[in-house]
Amino acid sequence: MATQVLFPTLVYSGRLRGRGWQALNSRLLRECRQLRADDAAGRRWSARNYIGGYTSYGSVNRMHRLSPTFASLARALDGRVGRFARTLAFDLTGRALAMTDCWVNIMGRGAVHGAHLHPLSTISGTYYVATPPRSAGLKFEDPRLERYMAAPPRLAGARSPWVLVAARTGGVVLFESWLRHEVPANESAAERVSISFNYSWF
Ligand code: FE
Repeated sequence: MATQVLFPTLVYSGRLRGRGWQALNSRLLRECRQLRADDAAGRRWSARNYIGGYTSYGSVNRMHRLSPTFASLARALDGRVGRFARTLAFDLTGRALAMTDCWVNIMGRGAVHGAHLHPLSTISGTYYVATPPRSAGLKFEDPRLERYMAAPPRLAGARSPWVLVAARTGGVVLFESWLRHEVPANESAAERVSISFNYSWF
């Protein structure tokens, strides 16, 4: 049948490799936990906005400027983000796609991060520092969902409007910042630790 697939949504999924990533990951894990211990404002913010977890999103959201360890992670991410931007055919002549925000998320059992976008950003993503068994993945929503209106339900086994990308330690997921996503309830008893970030070209 002469049916074309139009307007695909691109999501990058890879992992840090090479010598040294495990050492870097161990330092990141220590610093994420240390940040939570030091960041009273973030703990207060999280108690209201991130139940069952800690995030530095509302308090310390430029970790790549504060910590050499996070700066190393940012350098490791820069190349991937650049390649993803080329895959997306972004014309960045005379511009630089640069990390603007970088923050820590620690989810205990049952913690949820509801559906959201990353406004005022171009490419967003997450690096996974610790993903114990049964850690929640990252769930993306088909951006056409709100336009389905009178569309009939789909047959069992058809492509779902939600796709779950598994969280793996050392893994990197990148997406365009307008793509709605959420983290479903974390079922792991041990903490799931991730570092999220935004890149902008303006
Ligand atoms: Fe997000």
